[in-house]
Order: sequence, then C-alpha cells, then structure tokens
Amino acid sequence: MIRLENVSKSYEKGVPALNDVSLHIKPGEFVFVTGPSGSGKSTLMKLLLHEFTPTSGKIFVNGKDIANIRHKGVPFYRRNIGVVFQDFRLLPDRNVFENVAFAMKVIEAPKKEIKDKVSHVLATVGLASKYRSYPRQLSGGEQQRVAIARAIVNVPKIILADEPTGNLDINNAREIMRLLDDINKGGTTVLVVTHNLDIVHSMNKRVISIKNGCLVSDVAPEED
Ligand code: ADP
Repeated sequence: MIRLENVSKSYEKGVPALNDVSLHIKPGEFVFVTGPSGSGKSTLMKLLLHEFTPTSGKIFVNGKDIANIRHKGVPFYRRNIGVVFQDFRLLPDRNVFENVAFAMKVIEAPKKEIKDKVSHVLATVGLASKYRSYPRQLSGGEQQRVAIARAIVNVPKIILADEPTGNLDINNAREIMRLLDDINKGGTTVLVVTHNLDIVHSMNKRVISIKNGCLVSDVAPEED
C-alpha cells in the first residue's frame, strides 16, 4: 500500500528532515508514527500527500511511484487519501453538513448521493443530529469528528491523521482514536502521527518511531 525506499528529504543544505527512511505499510494496517518535535513526521505526511518530492529515494503508493504523478494528476491521487489535522481545518462559515459535503462537491458527486453519503458518515461519527451546527457551536471533539467524516466520505484507501488528538482532552482523544480504529477495521489503511504516548500504549498497534529524520524503531503489535 505504502512503500518508502531510502527516502531522504532536505529543505535546505544541512541536516535532512528525513534521512534514508525505508518502510512498508500493508493494506489495512493501522500504524502510529511517533517522535519528538522536528523529527520529520510532518515531512513524511507531506511526502505521502505529494506536497513535494523526496530529495532522494522512492515512494510507492498502491504500487505506483508517486514521483511520476504529474501536476494535473495530484488532485486525483489525493482522492485516495483522507487527511485529518490537529486543528480540524473546518470551514467556519459552513455548517457541519456543508463541511462534509464540500469534499464531495469538489469531485462533482450528484446531489442525491451527497445527501445520502454525508448523512451516513455523520451518523458513523455520531453527529447525525448536529448537521446544521456551525463549527464554532461544536466542542473540539465534535469538530474533529466532523473532520473525520469529511476525510472518509469519499471512501479513501488511506487515512493520514497528523496529531488528530493534539487539541483534545483525554476522553475526546480516546473517542477519536476509537473512531479511527473502527474505520481501520472497515479496511482503510490508517497512519496516525502522535506525541501522545498514553494513547499509543493503550492501543495494540504497530509503532514507527522517528528521530532526527531517521527511523529508529518499528514495533509490530503483539499477537493476541
Ligand atoms: P515534525 O513533524 O516531527 O515536528 P517536521 O517534519 O515538521 O517535523 O520537521 C523536520 C525538520 O525539517 C525540522 O528540523 C524542521 O525545522 C525542518 N523543516 C520542516 N519544514 C521545513 C521547511 N518548509 N523549510 C525548512 N525546514 C523545514
């Protein structure tokens, strides 16, 4: 599903933000990526979103070398990836329904399909009754659930979540992780960047650790 071969990324001369990272994430895996601030986690996410290309090395997603994607093909490529950010990134002047529908309008889905699918994903994240609320009327946990609904509405193969619980208290953080776990159980590959080791330790998942741009450990979940 995702394969990095000797990937390095330098923004400028000096220490690379990612240094010779190789890893393989299989379809349907749930993987935590942890590491101190500045270790290269966001750089890894941005490489996977094709915001820029590696300085050296190759990245394969769904068997394709993403360096070969042309500028015009990038939006199509990104349809396979749902993204969730620490700061939710909802549109403040649109209500919950519209925030989620927006992701489908972009791909010109028919109106009826938008209505059905948005209602369905809002029910999945437990927000069916809040579809008319605006982001400012929601708690942080609820806003993040809207962001997750938006990320999954086009049924992506991969979810990338960058510190999704960074702005949440522990109960909301657990709830968000439970949702991501459920989505993963439905077959979606999930990558979660997090500082929150309590969460990481409370879930039996593969954990990749990055330090100074290098992959320093990769621990598989314990067998049941
Ligand atoms: P993390 O997400 O783990 O905090 P980042 O991937 O954001 O780490 O950053 C890794 C390194 O790359 C850091 O030293 C950071 O200062 C540097 N860096 C990140 N983005 C840029 C950029 N746009 N220009 C220059 N250096 C950057």
